Amino acid sequence: MQAGGPLEPFSYDAGDLSPSEVEIDVAYCGICHSDLSMIDDEWGMSQFPLVGGHEVIGTVAAVGSNVQGLQEGMTVGLGWHSAYCGQCASCREGDQNLCSTAEGTIVARHGGFADKVRADAASIVVIPEGLDLESAGPLFCGGITVFNPLVQFGVKSTDKVAVIGIGGLGHIALQFLNAWGCEVTAFTSSESKRQEALEMGAHKTLNSRDPQEIEAAAGSFDFIISTVNVKLDWNLYLNTLKPKGRLHFVGATLEPLDLGVFSLIMAQRSVSGSPVGSPATIAKMLEFAKQHDIKPRIEVFPMSEINAAFDRLKSGKARYRIVLSNR
Ligand code: NAP
Ligand code: ZN
Repeated sequence: MQAGGPLEPFSYDAGDLSPSEVEIDVAYCGICHSDLSMIDDEWGMSQFPLVGGHEVIGTVAAVGSNVQGLQEGMTVGLGWHSAYCGQCASCREGDQNLCSTAEGTIVARHGGFADKVRADAASIVVIPEGLDLESAGPLFCGGITVFNPLVQFGVKSTDKVAVIGIGGLGHIALQFLNAWGCEVTAFTSSESKRQEALEMGAHKTLNSRDPQEIEAAAGSFDFIISTVNVKLDWNLYLNTLKPKGRLHFVGATLEPLDLGVFSLIMAQRSVSGSPVGSPATIAKMLEFAKQHDIKPRIEVFPMSEINAAFDRLKSGKARYRIVLSNR
């Protein structure tokens, strides 16, 4: 009901279903760190009352009159985006996640910590047969956010790739990268995650806050994905890149980057960021996850225990993604 406040039951009248929209009966919804940032209005774009939840798995309950290809009863997922303009250059090129007027599922709309949620049909992806539904929700934001960069930047199986931060996003990244064929290094600040990171696909682990360990990895990586939401010593990380290497941000670190430009110039290194992924890339990711038996590791809470679930996320103890269940 207000920034930083506890979550309470809230009812709203969603009105008539618009011709292009779909209504989903929510079965499961993952909790992303972005839900917490939105509830706390860390990004200054929250509107209250806010209904979070953008890692939805559910069943199509109703379709608008213009919707094609989706029918009542289909099992579907919904992520960060709920609608795209469909007309801009990005949308036309299949980069709907870069559409400047795309609507966020929990930004000025009500999201999936609910019995039902609505979204434009273009943002909904059908779940392939055989995918584990309870754990699939986190793929729709956490998963696609770390899968999309592998596609966008053509990460190769011969690449050495590091992931900084082994939380909701990071633990899925380890699994994807291992299946992609890369040599995978996990940077974690949690000693207790090191062994599990190896089990999830990392070949090596390093302490993300230990300057000596990071310095010792100088010149090692072709690609680094940062999933942390805090400021780290980015210049140390830049130097762990090989020439032409890339430091890619998906974690929403609020502090500006303070990068030494010579480290970029002399080794032709790049720095970049990206938001989630397009519906087509989400569909591709789901097939990849199914093919390689990749599943988010989850802790399930009943939807009614949402406040306890958020306390657990804030404690940093969640292993590795919390999913709320209506079942
Ligand atoms: P999360 O589950 O809380 O994981 C974040 C991880 O960062 C933690 O598990 C921890 O990993 C590490 N970390 C946290 N505090 C740290 C500290 N003080 N020093 C070093 N490491 C620290 O969060 P998430 O759901 O994965 O989301 C991560 C970030 O991505 C958030 O900022 C979220 O808003 C953003 N996000 C962006 C997109 C996008 O489209 N770009 C999509 C989804 C989420 P270790 O324990 O291993 O150190
Ligand atoms: Zn998210």
